[in-house]
Amino acid sequence: MSRPQQITVLGATGSIGLSTLDVIARHPDRYQVFGLSGYSRLAQLLALCIQHTPQVAVVPDERSARQLQADLRAAGLNTEVLVGEQGLCDIASAPAVDAVMAAIVGAAGLRPTLSAVNAGKKILLANKEALVMTGALFMQAVRRSGSVLLPIDSEHNAIFQCLPQDFARGLSQVGVRRILLTASGGPFRETPLADLAHVTPDQACAHPNWSMGRKISVDSASMMNKGLELIEACWLFDAKPAQVEVVIHPQSVIHSLVDYIDGSVLAQLGNPDMRTPIANALAWPERINSGVAPLDLFSVARLDFQRPDEQRFPCLRLAREAAAAGDSAPAMLNAANEVAVAAFLDGRIRYPHIAQLIEDVLNNEPVVPVNELEAVFAADARARELADQWLSRQG
Ligand code: NDP
Ligand code: MG
Repeated sequence: MSRPQQITVLGATGSIGLSTLDVIARHPDRYQVFGLSGYSRLAQLLALCIQHTPQVAVVPDERSARQLQADLRAAGLNTEVLVGEQGLCDIASAPAVDAVMAAIVGAAGLRPTLSAVNAGKKILLANKEALVMTGALFMQAVRRSGSVLLPIDSEHNAIFQCLPQDFARGLSQVGVRRILLTASGGPFRETPLADLAHVTPDQACAHPNWSMGRKISVDSASMMNKGLELIEACWLFDAKPAQVEVVIHPQSVIHSLVDYIDGSVLAQLGNPDMRTPIANALAWPERINSGVAPLDLFSVARLDFQRPDEQRFPCLRLAREAAAAGDSAPAMLNAANEVAVAAFLDGRIRYPHIAQLIEDVLNNEPVVPVNELEAVFAADARARELADQWLSRQG
Protein backbone atom coordinates (compact mmCIF):
# COMPACT_ATOMS: atom_id res chain seq x y z
CA MET A 1 0.00 0.00 0.00
CA SER A 2 1.19 3.55 -0.72
CA ARG A 3 2.48 5.75 2.11
CA PRO A 4 -0.02 7.96 3.99
CA GLN A 5 -0.48 11.44 2.53
CA GLN A 6 1.08 14.24 4.56
CA ILE A 7 -1.44 16.96 5.37
CA THR A 8 -1.01 20.50 6.67
CA VAL A 9 -4.05 22.08 8.32
CA LEU A 10 -3.85 25.88 8.35
CA GLY A 11 -6.33 27.10 10.97
CA ALA A 12 -6.41 23.75 12.79
CA THR A 13 -8.07 25.20 15.92
CA GLY A 14 -11.09 26.52 14.00
CA SER A 15 -14.34 24.89 13.05
CA ILE A 16 -13.12 23.60 9.66
CA GLY A 17 -9.72 22.67 11.09
CA LEU A 18 -11.29 20.49 13.78
CA SER A 19 -13.67 18.83 11.32
CA THR A 20 -10.72 18.10 9.03
CA LEU A 21 -8.75 16.49 11.86
CA ASP A 22 -11.81 14.44 12.79
CA VAL A 23 -11.94 12.99 9.26
CA ILE A 24 -8.15 12.48 9.12
CA ALA A 25 -8.18 10.60 12.44
CA ARG A 26 -10.65 8.10 10.96
CA HIS A 27 -8.08 7.13 8.29
CA PRO A 28 -4.60 6.81 9.83
CA ASP A 29 -3.63 4.47 7.00
CA ARG A 30 -4.34 7.19 4.39
CA TYR A 31 -3.40 10.49 6.10
CA GLN A 32 -0.77 11.79 8.49
CA VAL A 33 -0.68 15.29 9.92
CA PHE A 34 2.44 17.21 8.90
CA GLY A 35 1.68 20.74 10.12
CA LEU A 36 -0.94 22.47 12.27
CA SER A 37 -1.52 26.15 13.00
CA GLY A 38 -3.40 28.04 15.69
CA TYR A 39 -3.73 31.71 16.49
CA SER A 40 -5.50 32.52 19.77
CA ARG A 41 -6.64 29.07 20.97
CA LEU A 42 -3.18 27.77 21.87
CA ALA A 43 -4.27 25.33 24.58
CA GLN A 44 -6.42 23.75 21.90
CA LEU A 45 -3.43 23.67 19.54
CA LEU A 46 -1.35 21.88 22.18
CA ALA A 47 -4.09 19.27 22.64
CA LEU A 48 -4.26 18.78 18.86
CA CYS A 49 -0.47 18.33 18.70
CA ILE A 50 -0.65 15.69 21.42
CA GLN A 51 -3.44 13.90 19.56
CA HIS A 52 -2.08 14.16 16.00
CA THR A 53 1.73 14.40 16.54
CA PRO A 54 2.50 16.80 13.66
CA GLN A 55 6.09 17.47 12.67
CA VAL A 56 5.56 21.24 12.84
CA ALA A 57 3.17 23.60 14.64
CA VAL A 58 2.79 27.33 13.93
CA VAL A 59 1.80 30.07 16.39
CA PRO A 60 1.56 33.85 15.89
CA ASP A 61 4.51 35.13 18.00
CA GLU A 62 7.75 34.20 19.75
CA ARG A 63 6.26 34.23 23.23
CA SER A 64 3.55 31.71 22.32
CA ALA A 65 6.20 29.67 20.51
CA ARG A 66 8.35 29.37 23.67
CA GLN A 67 5.29 28.37 25.70
CA LEU A 68 4.11 25.78 23.20
CA GLN A 69 7.61 24.39 22.76
CA ALA A 70 7.94 23.92 26.54
CA ASP A 71 4.49 22.30 26.79
CA LEU A 72 5.29 19.96 23.89
CA ARG A 73 8.58 18.89 25.44
CA ALA A 74 6.80 18.25 28.76
CA ALA A 75 4.37 16.03 26.87
CA GLY A 76 7.30 14.11 25.37
CA LEU A 77 6.87 15.47 21.80
CA ASN A 78 9.59 16.91 19.60
CA THR A 79 7.25 18.87 17.29
CA GLU A 80 9.08 21.86 15.78
CA VAL A 81 7.42 25.22 16.46
CA LEU A 82 7.49 28.00 13.86
CA VAL A 83 6.21 31.55 14.08
CA GLY A 84 4.00 33.93 12.14
CA GLU A 85 3.13 34.24 8.49
CA GLN A 86 6.50 32.87 7.36
CA GLY A 87 5.89 29.79 9.51
CA LEU A 88 2.46 29.35 7.93
CA CYS A 89 3.95 29.65 4.44
CA ASP A 90 6.63 27.10 5.40
CA ILE A 91 4.19 24.41 6.57
CA ALA A 92 2.04 25.10 3.49
CA SER A 93 4.90 24.59 1.04
CA ALA A 94 7.23 22.09 2.77
CA PRO A 95 8.45 19.45 0.27
CA ALA A 96 7.04 16.60 2.41
CA VAL A 97 3.48 17.97 2.25
CA ASP A 98 0.97 16.46 -0.18
CA ALA A 99 -2.17 18.47 0.61
CA VAL A 100 -3.02 21.66 2.47
CA MET A 101 -6.33 22.45 4.13
CA ALA A 102 -6.60 26.26 3.83
CA ALA A 103 -8.88 27.03 6.78
CA ILE A 104 -7.59 30.29 8.23
CA VAL A 105 -10.40 32.83 8.24
CA GLY A 106 -10.20 35.99 6.14
CA ALA A 107 -7.38 37.81 4.38
CA ALA A 108 -4.90 36.44 6.94
CA GLY A 109 -5.05 33.15 5.03
CA LEU A 110 -4.06 34.60 1.69
CA ARG A 111 -0.26 34.40 1.70
CA PRO A 112 -0.07 30.91 3.28
CA THR A 113 -2.68 29.61 0.83
CA LEU A 114 -0.83 31.09 -2.14
CA SER A 115 2.38 29.63 -0.80
CA ALA A 116 0.77 26.17 -0.98
CA VAL A 117 -0.54 26.92 -4.48
CA ASN A 118 2.86 28.09 -5.72
CA ALA A 119 4.45 24.92 -4.32
CA GLY A 120 1.99 22.86 -6.42
CA LYS A 121 0.24 21.26 -3.45
CA LYS A 122 -3.23 19.80 -3.53
CA ILE A 123 -5.32 22.66 -2.08
CA LEU A 124 -8.46 22.03 -0.05
CA LEU A 125 -9.89 25.54 -0.14
CA ALA A 126 -12.12 26.65 2.74
CA ASN A 127 -10.57 30.15 3.00
CA LYS A 128 -12.84 31.63 0.31
CA GLU A 129 -11.68 35.16 1.15
CA ALA A 130 -8.25 34.37 -0.37
CA LEU A 131 -9.80 33.48 -3.72
CA VAL A 132 -12.31 36.37 -3.63
CA MET A 133 -9.48 38.86 -3.04
CA THR A 134 -7.11 37.66 -5.71
CA GLY A 135 -9.39 35.92 -8.25
CA ALA A 136 -7.54 35.86 -11.56
CA LEU A 137 -4.10 35.92 -9.91
CA PHE A 138 -5.01 32.94 -7.72
CA MET A 139 -6.32 30.92 -10.68
CA GLN A 140 -3.25 31.79 -12.78
CA ALA A 141 -1.01 30.58 -9.95
CA VAL A 142 -2.99 27.32 -9.77
CA ARG A 143 -2.57 26.75 -13.50
CA ARG A 144 1.11 27.69 -13.46
CA SER A 145 2.03 25.35 -10.60
CA GLY A 146 -0.26 22.48 -11.60
CA SER A 147 -1.89 22.55 -8.18
CA VAL A 148 -5.12 20.57 -7.78
CA LEU A 149 -7.72 22.96 -6.33
CA LEU A 150 -10.65 21.31 -4.53
CA PRO A 151 -13.48 23.37 -3.00
CA ILE A 152 -14.43 22.78 0.63
CA ASP A 153 -17.26 25.31 0.80
CA SER A 154 -20.25 22.96 0.85
CA GLU A 155 -21.95 24.70 -2.09
CA HIS A 156 -18.86 24.67 -4.30
CA ASN A 157 -18.02 21.13 -3.32
CA ALA A 158 -21.59 20.19 -4.30
CA ILE A 159 -21.27 21.97 -7.66
CA PHE A 160 -17.89 20.30 -8.21
CA GLN A 161 -19.56 16.93 -7.62
CA CYS A 162 -22.42 17.76 -10.04
CA LEU A 163 -20.15 18.94 -12.87
CA PRO A 164 -18.39 16.59 -15.30
CA GLN A 165 -14.66 16.15 -14.58
CA ASP A 166 -13.73 18.10 -17.73
CA PHE A 167 -15.73 21.22 -16.74
CA ALA A 168 -12.58 23.31 -17.16
CA ARG A 169 -13.27 23.15 -20.93
CA GLY A 170 -15.95 25.77 -20.23
CA LEU A 171 -19.42 25.57 -18.70
CA SER A 172 -21.22 26.03 -22.02
CA GLN A 173 -18.93 23.42 -23.64
CA VAL A 174 -20.11 20.84 -21.12
CA GLY A 175 -23.79 21.82 -21.48
CA VAL A 176 -24.28 23.82 -18.28
CA ARG A 177 -26.94 26.53 -18.38
CA ARG A 178 -26.40 27.89 -14.88
CA ILE A 179 -25.32 27.15 -11.37
CA LEU A 180 -27.84 27.31 -8.54
CA LEU A 181 -26.15 28.30 -5.30
CA THR A 182 -28.26 27.43 -2.28
CA ALA A 183 -28.35 29.54 0.88
CA SER A 184 -30.11 28.83 4.16
CA GLY A 185 -31.12 32.47 4.63
CA GLY A 186 -29.49 32.40 8.08
CA PRO A 187 -31.02 33.29 11.43
CA PHE A 188 -32.68 36.53 10.19
CA ARG A 189 -34.55 35.13 7.19
CA GLU A 190 -37.89 36.00 8.74
CA THR A 191 -36.95 38.61 11.37
CA PRO A 192 -39.07 41.77 10.86
CA LEU A 193 -36.83 44.30 9.04
CA ALA A 194 -37.38 46.90 11.77
CA ASP A 195 -35.94 44.50 14.38
CA LEU A 196 -32.63 44.01 12.54
CA ALA A 197 -31.19 47.17 14.15
CA HIS A 198 -31.39 45.41 17.52
CA VAL A 199 -30.07 41.91 16.83
CA THR A 200 -27.05 40.84 18.89
CA PRO A 201 -23.80 39.14 17.78
CA ASP A 202 -24.91 35.95 19.54
CA GLN A 203 -28.20 35.97 17.64
CA ALA A 204 -26.30 36.52 14.39
CA CYS A 205 -23.99 33.60 15.20
CA ALA A 206 -26.85 31.21 16.04
CA HIS A 207 -27.05 29.66 12.59
CA PRO A 208 -30.13 27.45 12.17
CA ASN A 209 -28.31 24.56 10.43
CA TRP A 210 -24.52 24.90 10.54
CA SER A 211 -22.05 25.28 13.41
CA MET A 212 -19.23 27.58 12.20
CA GLY A 213 -16.72 30.23 13.27
CA ARG A 214 -18.13 33.62 14.27
CA LYS A 215 -17.02 35.60 11.21
CA ILE A 216 -18.61 33.28 8.66
CA SER A 217 -21.69 32.99 10.90
CA VAL A 218 -22.25 36.76 10.70
CA ASP A 219 -21.58 36.60 6.95
CA SER A 220 -24.27 33.92 6.70
CA ALA A 221 -26.74 36.10 8.61
CA SER A 222 -26.09 39.06 6.28
CA MET A 223 -25.75 36.81 3.21
CA MET A 224 -22.38 38.40 2.50
CA ASN A 225 -21.25 34.79 2.74
CA LYS A 226 -23.40 33.98 -0.30
CA GLY A 227 -22.04 37.08 -2.04
CA LEU A 228 -18.46 35.93 -1.43
CA GLU A 229 -19.49 32.45 -2.59
CA LEU A 230 -20.94 33.88 -5.79
CA ILE A 231 -17.55 35.45 -6.56
CA GLU A 232 -15.81 32.22 -5.47
CA ALA A 233 -18.02 30.19 -7.84
CA CYS A 234 -17.23 32.48 -10.77
CA TRP A 235 -13.49 31.88 -10.32
CA LEU A 236 -13.64 28.15 -9.50
CA PHE A 237 -15.94 27.26 -12.38
CA ASP A 238 -15.14 30.07 -14.84
CA ALA A 239 -18.73 31.31 -14.67
CA LYS A 240 -20.16 34.78 -15.30
CA PRO A 241 -22.00 36.33 -12.34
CA ALA A 242 -25.23 36.14 -14.39
CA GLN A 243 -24.77 32.34 -14.67
CA VAL A 244 -24.98 31.94 -10.90
CA GLU A 245 -28.38 32.18 -9.25
CA VAL A 246 -28.82 32.29 -5.48
CA VAL A 247 -31.72 30.23 -4.11
CA ILE A 248 -32.77 30.30 -0.48
CA HIS A 249 -33.32 26.76 0.74
CA PRO A 250 -33.91 26.88 4.51
CA GLN A 251 -33.32 23.17 5.22
CA SER A 252 -29.68 23.20 3.93
CA VAL A 253 -30.07 19.65 2.64
CA ILE A 254 -29.42 20.45 -1.03
CA HIS A 255 -25.94 21.97 -0.99
CA SER A 256 -26.21 23.39 -4.54
CA LEU A 257 -27.30 22.38 -8.05
CA VAL A 258 -26.19 22.49 -11.69
CA ASP A 259 -28.79 23.19 -14.39
CA TYR A 260 -27.96 21.64 -17.80
CA ILE A 261 -29.28 22.72 -21.21
CA ASP A 262 -31.18 19.46 -21.67
CA GLY A 263 -33.32 20.32 -18.63
CA SER A 264 -31.49 18.03 -16.21
CA VAL A 265 -30.75 19.57 -12.84
CA LEU A 266 -28.16 17.71 -10.76
CA ALA A 267 -28.02 18.34 -7.03
CA GLN A 268 -25.84 17.11 -4.18
CA LEU A 269 -27.69 16.41 -0.93
CA GLY A 270 -26.55 15.51 2.54
CA ASN A 271 -26.77 16.39 6.19
CA PRO A 272 -25.33 19.85 6.91
CA ASP A 273 -21.96 18.67 8.23
CA MET A 274 -18.70 19.99 6.77
CA ARG A 275 -17.03 16.60 7.20
CA THR A 276 -18.78 15.53 3.96
CA PRO A 277 -17.10 18.09 1.63
CA ILE A 278 -13.86 17.72 3.61
CA ALA A 279 -13.81 13.93 3.15
CA ASN A 280 -14.83 14.35 -0.48
CA ALA A 281 -11.91 16.67 -1.21
CA LEU A 282 -9.38 14.74 0.89
CA ALA A 283 -10.06 11.46 -0.89
CA TRP A 284 -11.03 12.79 -4.33
CA PRO A 285 -11.56 11.09 -6.74
CA GLU A 286 -12.18 8.26 -4.29
CA ARG A 287 -14.76 8.21 -1.46
CA ILE A 288 -14.10 7.63 2.22
CA ASN A 289 -16.18 7.49 5.38
CA SER A 290 -16.56 10.97 6.90
CA GLY A 291 -18.40 10.08 10.10
CA VAL A 292 -21.50 11.92 8.85
CA ALA A 293 -24.82 10.18 9.51
CA PRO A 294 -26.75 9.00 6.45
CA LEU A 295 -29.36 11.46 5.20
CA ASP A 296 -32.84 10.51 6.40
CA LEU A 297 -35.21 11.91 3.77
CA PHE A 298 -38.22 10.88 5.85
CA SER A 299 -37.20 13.14 8.69
CA VAL A 300 -36.28 15.96 6.25
CA ALA A 301 -39.78 15.48 4.78
CA ARG A 302 -39.80 18.64 2.66
CA LEU A 303 -37.49 20.94 0.71
CA ASP A 304 -38.43 24.63 0.34
CA PHE A 305 -37.08 27.33 -1.97
CA GLN A 306 -37.36 31.12 -2.00
CA ARG A 307 -35.93 34.03 -3.96
CA PRO A 308 -33.57 36.17 -1.82
CA ASP A 309 -34.88 39.63 -0.89
CA GLU A 310 -32.11 42.19 -1.51
CA GLN A 311 -33.78 44.73 0.76
CA ARG A 312 -33.33 42.29 3.62
CA PHE A 313 -29.89 41.22 2.37
CA PRO A 314 -28.16 44.30 0.88
CA CYS A 315 -24.77 42.59 1.22
CA LEU A 316 -25.79 40.16 -1.52
CA ARG A 317 -26.39 43.11 -3.88
CA LEU A 318 -23.07 44.71 -2.88
CA ALA A 319 -21.23 41.48 -3.64
CA ARG A 320 -22.96 41.13 -7.03
CA GLU A 321 -21.96 44.71 -7.85
CA ALA A 322 -18.36 44.04 -6.80
CA ALA A 323 -18.34 40.84 -8.90
CA ALA A 324 -19.54 42.83 -11.93
CA ALA A 325 -17.02 45.64 -11.32
CA GLY A 326 -14.14 43.14 -10.95
CA ASP A 327 -10.52 44.32 -10.53
CA SER A 328 -9.98 45.70 -7.00
CA ALA A 329 -13.69 45.73 -6.08
CA PRO A 330 -13.93 42.19 -4.57
CA ALA A 331 -10.79 42.72 -2.44
CA MET A 332 -12.22 46.02 -1.15
CA LEU A 333 -15.60 44.42 -0.50
CA ASN A 334 -13.93 41.63 1.45
CA ALA A 335 -11.71 43.94 3.51
CA ALA A 336 -14.54 46.35 4.36
CA ASN A 337 -16.68 43.39 5.35
CA GLU A 338 -13.96 41.96 7.62
CA VAL A 339 -13.65 45.29 9.45
CA ALA A 340 -17.43 45.72 9.68
CA VAL A 341 -18.04 42.20 10.99
CA ALA A 342 -15.28 42.52 13.61
CA ALA A 343 -16.80 45.85 14.75
CA PHE A 344 -20.26 44.28 14.95
CA LEU A 345 -18.92 41.31 16.95
CA ASP A 346 -17.19 43.79 19.30
CA GLY A 347 -20.44 45.66 19.87
CA ARG A 348 -19.14 48.83 18.19
CA ILE A 349 -21.80 49.00 15.45
CA ARG A 350 -25.28 47.64 14.88
CA TYR A 351 -26.05 44.91 12.40
CA PRO A 352 -27.48 47.17 9.61
CA HIS A 353 -24.29 49.23 9.75
CA ILE A 354 -22.34 46.31 8.27
CA ALA A 355 -23.89 46.83 4.83
CA GLN A 356 -23.83 50.64 5.17
CA LEU A 357 -20.13 50.67 5.98
CA ILE A 358 -19.26 48.41 3.05
CA GLU A 359 -21.38 50.42 0.61
CA ASP A 360 -19.82 53.72 1.73
CA VAL A 361 -16.30 52.34 1.41
CA LEU A 362 -16.98 50.96 -2.08
CA ASN A 363 -18.66 54.20 -3.22
CA ASN A 364 -15.73 56.31 -2.05
CA GLU A 365 -12.89 54.55 -3.77
CA PRO A 366 -12.40 53.98 -7.50
CA VAL A 367 -11.96 50.45 -8.80
CA VAL A 368 -8.38 49.93 -10.03
CA PRO A 369 -6.77 47.08 -11.96
CA VAL A 370 -5.04 44.40 -9.88
CA ASN A 371 -2.42 42.78 -12.10
CA GLU A 372 -0.16 41.80 -9.26
CA LEU A 373 -0.48 40.76 -5.64
CA GLU A 374 0.86 44.04 -4.31
CA ALA A 375 -2.11 45.83 -5.91
CA VAL A 376 -4.47 43.48 -4.09
CA PHE A 377 -2.79 44.18 -0.76
CA ALA A 378 -2.95 47.92 -1.47
CA ALA A 379 -6.70 47.71 -2.21
CA ASP A 380 -7.21 45.64 0.95
CA ALA A 381 -5.26 48.17 3.05
CA ARG A 382 -7.06 51.15 1.53
CA ALA A 383 -10.49 49.60 2.23
CA ARG A 384 -9.49 48.87 5.85
CA GLU A 385 -8.32 52.46 6.26
CA LEU A 386 -11.61 53.84 4.87
CA ALA A 387 -13.58 51.41 7.04
CA ASP A 388 -11.68 52.50 10.16
CA GLN A 389 -12.40 56.14 9.30
CA TRP A 390 -16.09 55.25 8.90
CA LEU A 391 -16.05 53.63 12.34
CA SER A 392 -14.34 56.66 13.93
CA ARG A 393 -17.03 58.93 12.48
CA GLN A 394 -19.66 56.67 14.12
CA GLY A 395 -17.98 57.46 17.47
P1 NDP B 1 -12.91 29.74 12.77
O1 NDP B 1 -12.99 31.13 13.28
O2 NDP B 1 -13.61 28.66 13.52
O3 NDP B 1 -11.38 29.32 12.60
C1 NDP B 1 -10.45 30.18 12.02
C2 NDP B 1 -9.05 29.62 12.11
O4 NDP B 1 -8.12 30.61 11.65
C3 NDP B 1 -8.64 29.28 13.55
O5 NDP B 1 -7.74 28.21 13.54
C4 NDP B 1 -7.92 30.57 14.00
O6 NDP B 1 -7.03 30.35 15.08
C5 NDP B 1 -7.19 30.93 12.72
N1 NDP B 1 -6.91 32.36 12.62
C6 NDP B 1 -7.75 33.39 12.90
N2 NDP B 1 -7.14 34.57 12.65
C7 NDP B 1 -5.89 34.27 12.22
C8 NDP B 1 -4.76 35.06 11.81
N3 NDP B 1 -4.81 36.41 11.80
N4 NDP B 1 -3.65 34.42 11.43
C9 NDP B 1 -3.58 33.08 11.44
N5 NDP B 1 -4.59 32.28 11.80
C10 NDP B 1 -5.74 32.88 12.19
O7 NDP B 1 -13.41 29.80 11.26
P2 NDP B 1 -14.05 28.62 10.38
O8 NDP B 1 -13.31 27.35 10.60
O9 NDP B 1 -15.51 28.64 10.53
O10 NDP B 1 -13.73 29.16 8.91
C11 NDP B 1 -12.45 29.07 8.33
C12 NDP B 1 -12.55 29.40 6.85
O11 NDP B 1 -13.37 28.42 6.23
C13 NDP B 1 -13.21 30.76 6.57
O12 NDP B 1 -12.61 31.34 5.44
C14 NDP B 1 -14.65 30.38 6.25
O13 NDP B 1 -15.26 31.30 5.36
C15 NDP B 1 -14.46 29.04 5.56
N6 NDP B 1 -15.62 28.16 5.65
C16 NDP B 1 -16.08 27.73 6.86
C17 NDP B 1 -17.18 26.91 6.94
C18 NDP B 1 -17.66 26.36 8.24
O14 NDP B 1 -18.58 25.55 8.27
N7 NDP B 1 -17.09 26.74 9.38
C19 NDP B 1 -17.93 26.53 5.73
C20 NDP B 1 -17.35 27.01 4.51
C21 NDP B 1 -16.24 27.81 4.48
P3 NDP B 1 -7.56 30.42 16.62
O15 NDP B 1 -8.87 29.74 16.64
O16 NDP B 1 -6.49 29.65 17.36
O17 NDP B 1 -7.61 31.85 16.98
MG1 MG C 1 -20.73 27.77 2.05
